[in-house]
Amino acid sequence: MSTGNQDNPFEIAQRQINACADILKLDESTRQGLLHPMREFHVTFPVHMDDGTTRLFKGYRVQYNDAKGPTKGGIRFHPDETIDTVRALAAWMTWKCALLDLPLGGGKGGVICNPKELSQQELERVSRGYIKAIASFIGPDKDVPAPDVYTNPQVMAWMVDEYSSIVGKNQFGVMTGKPLVIGGSPGRGDATARGGLYTLREAAKKIGLDLGKATIAVQGFGNAGSFAASLAESLFGSKIVAVCDSRGAVCCLGGFSAMAVNQHKQATSTVLECAGGECITSDELLEMDVDVLVLAALEGTLTQRNAGRVKAKIVMELANGPTTPEADEILYEKGVHVIPDFLCNAGGVTVSYFEMVQNASMYYWDEKEVHEKLDKRMTRAYHEVAEMSEKHAINMRKAAYAVAVARVVEAMKVRGWV
Ligand code: NAD
Repeated sequence: MSTGNQDNPFEIAQRQINACADILKLDESTRQGLLHPMREFHVTFPVHMDDGTTRLFKGYRVQYNDAKGPTKGGIRFHPDETIDTVRALAAWMTWKCALLDLPLGGGKGGVICNPKELSQQELERVSRGYIKAIASFIGPDKDVPAPDVYTNPQVMAWMVDEYSSIVGKNQFGVMTGKPLVIGGSPGRGDATARGGLYTLREAAKKIGLDLGKATIAVQGFGNAGSFAASLAESLFGSKIVAVCDSRGAVCCLGGFSAMAVNQHKQATSTVLECAGGECITSDELLEMDVDVLVLAALEGTLTQRNAGRVKAKIVMELANGPTTPEADEILYEKGVHVIPDFLCNAGGVTVSYFEMVQNASMYYWDEKEVHEKLDKRMTRAYHEVAEMSEKHAINMRKAAYAVAVARVVEAMKVRGWV
């Protein structure tokens, strides 16, 4: 399987599985069972374009492991989509669902296309064409997709509609991340940031940090980062002292109002020149003397180069893969408490699972109930990981892997697969 390509995301995912298999002392057949996707589908489907031509699109759906239940994972529309990216993301979804102890496996899908070059009608036809191509492989009790990069609730609505017409009845439970009016769940909008903040609250208790007096810097003031800032302010009374986006960073030691930064960003498309803010570099933001550093932008933010200069007590990873393995070790040695990505940002998939439950029971909860249930799951998962980290003297990311993979292995064992 190995191609020796260090940057190949699936190679990275496989290295992580191997490291975890070593910690858990798994036998060879179990290790092999975890290293490869159970099923993957490669489809090519025609789409009629607005100019009268017909174009062929290529798509994938990977069902990595369904030992614990139907597979779950988003669909990405991206020009650079590759099967190895989809495989890696499907593996990561398997561990994320297991970590939150959801009765689900992991999957992922993708279509090679550039949505920015498609009209709204073409986007709808690509969405429907992809579902027509994979319809027999998915279903509410088989494999349940969701939005991901460049797909959104509207795309989910078209996909649900197409699938429902193929099977001859409404099947809202085949997708999550739907608009509320056709079975979306309340609380999905800010679920990722909110779930992350529940884990932050537990981490703060653990290290004796008073969040009411804490200072926070947010790298990446986008969807996840802006919700994290406003919720940290409203739930805990923390002070947001620095924010940044792809154009640069601003700091205000007296504290920004998250709402004011949001309004400024909406009006000008950037956080730069936000009232009361002083311009700093994005690198300076990462190295500020704050209590909490929220990483909500890109992968590979903290590396061997800068991890030694991080002064935050807690690093909260809302982004996927913001810390390299080398940086992880440096932060661990320094005693920085890292809440790893697939724990910290698991609120989204957890509320997606709640959406499936509500769809299946045809009974819908209010937002408060969603928040309470999310809190319970995130809090439990945080403590399971923290305990594993302490018990084996390993960093929080390795501990999260160990908790998650052990659960998948247990399901595989009782089912007689390994
Ligand atoms: P987004 O595009 O809304 O926001 C990303 C923000 O990061 C933008 O403000 C962008 O300007 C900023 N940014 C980009 N490059 C930067 C750089 N070099 N330095 C500083 N800032 C930079 O995306 P999002 O949905 O908020 O996702 C952010 C991260 O969180 C991604 O890694 C994503 O995979 C992860 N995540 C998001 C969700 C979710 O529900 N939104 C769920 C799980 C994981």
